[in-house]
Amino acid sequence: MSARAIDGAASGGAGMAGAAAAAQAGPVAVSASPAPAPAGPVPAPAAGSPAVQARRVPKAAAPAASEKIYARSVDGLYARWRVVFVALTQALFYGLPWLNWNGRQAVLFDLGARKFYLFGLVLGPQDVVYLTVLLVISALSLFLFTAIAGRLFCGYACPQTVYSEIFAWIETKVEGDRSARLRLDASPWSLRKLRLKAAKHALWLAVAWWTGSTFVGYFAPIRGLGSDLLAGALGPWQWFWIVFYSLATWGNAGFLRTTVCKYMCPYARFQSVMVDPDTYVVTYDRQRGEPRGHRSRRAAEADGAAPRGDCVDCTVCVQVCPTGIDIRDGLQYMCIGCGACIDACDQVMEKMEYPVRLIRYTSERAMRDGLSPAQARRRLLRPRVLVYTALILLLAAGLAAALVVRSPLRMDVMRDRGVMGREVAGGLIENVYRVQFINTAESPLRLTLHAEGLPGLSAEPAAGQGEAGIEVPPVSNRLLAVVMRAPAGAAEPGLYPVRLQVRGQTGDGRTVSADEAASFYMPR
Ligand code: SF4
Ligand code: SF4
Repeated sequence: MSARAIDGAASGGAGMAGAAAAAQAGPVAVSASPAPAPAGPVPAPAAGSPAVQARRVPKAAAPAASEKIYARSVDGLYARWRVVFVALTQALFYGLPWLNWNGRQAVLFDLGARKFYLFGLVLGPQDVVYLTVLLVISALSLFLFTAIAGRLFCGYACPQTVYSEIFAWIETKVEGDRSARLRLDASPWSLRKLRLKAAKHALWLAVAWWTGSTFVGYFAPIRGLGSDLLAGALGPWQWFWIVFYSLATWGNAGFLRTTVCKYMCPYARFQSVMVDPDTYVVTYDRQRGEPRGHRSRRAAEADGAAPRGDCVDCTVCVQVCPTGIDIRDGLQYMCIGCGACIDACDQVMEKMEYPVRLIRYTSERAMRDGLSPAQARRRLLRPRVLVYTALILLLAAGLAAALVVRSPLRMDVMRDRGVMGREVAGGLIENVYRVQFINTAESPLRLTLHAEGLPGLSAEPAAGQGEAGIEVPPVSNRLLAVVMRAPAGAAEPGLYPVRLQVRGQTGDGRTVSADEAASFYMPR
């Protein structure tokens, strides 16, 4: 992988060299590099005007996929928000499988038993509709966030970004910040370089292994994983997924990083159809920033200095960008909306004693029409946002209601085709069924059967299968042969629709029931 520094070269210009070097050396620094000043006051040209276009410094293209980006670390409001999101998402991911509920793992996707445990809920394959609704809500939420604030999810909560942040933090702690890493990678191999690289990869692999093991801990009880690993008792699939997920984490967060966001993630490609002029995106205030130019604070204050925009062309916003783009070129699909360039530019503005937020989250319309922040925020509540919100709320309310009233008892009735209706002792006609009782409660269910649809119709477990009541253990299925009987003269010969009903009580005294349609054959 070829190394490429996103520094002064990104913006070009001979006067840039001093600023770029100073900016690389540590805290944002802007050095003097006077530019020729025209005589007398010159009104600032409008953004996008030919004057601005002509004076705009040419840029290098965004780095190619194979080029390594040495992003510089930055502190500020949005950097702190990113840390908060990393902490929250990882506390959730690493912590959730260790929580217990009713004496078992609170969140466990037991694929072997085809049961999903989510705290008090036990879902089976028949509950796939809930998962579908959850996925639809997630997709709509993504549309909503994108309509409001572009790729905000990418910049703060996407696993690719979160793990890249963690790995970049480790890299900075071990190898140093951007300039130190550039020097280290350019230097020939030495004992020091070997030691630093080995330490970095050892730490990366440790985090990756922890991540892979935690991932598998969502599908197999996590408390047993460590001891199984030490005892060499892990199954082949557990080994496969731990190693695969660990390597994927190591490769994606350690090496690929934002290459995934730029070239592999489909969301980057279709986000453009979800943003509109009122969407908040990271935007460079061209009107205020142009014509950009390098200068020192003193030069800026001096009488007769050339009128300049607020951008001092230090390229710090490019150096901190994890995707290596220059936000001053306008909104680009590669921008993940992380806000690092905002923090970096704010530091430069503070040093220059200019107003901050030359780069900021705002909408295209606000920038174009000069809307105040309050006016721009009001425009966030536009029809598409309200429609997405209403749909999400409706689906979430429906899902919550369905889960609350969901019965822990289910029944599937299949007529036993091998046994036609037949006459048995007592002048009764008997039909046989195979019935599956599904108990998703975490207490046993004791069930009783009833039938209706013909005069005198009754139902009970078949001989040898039954007891006075039917007991179904917690979170399990039970398959039973059930007979329905009706008096021989109850109806003319033929096939009749009937209903089989089952009732029972859960451990907490709640009455549950299920009702299924069946057919009853009355022979000649
Ligand atoms: S936008 Fe801000 S950080 Fe970027 S080059 Fe201009 S002054 Fe520097
Ligand atoms: S341009 Fe700014 S917001 Fe966009 S990815 Fe780069 S640093 Fe983040």
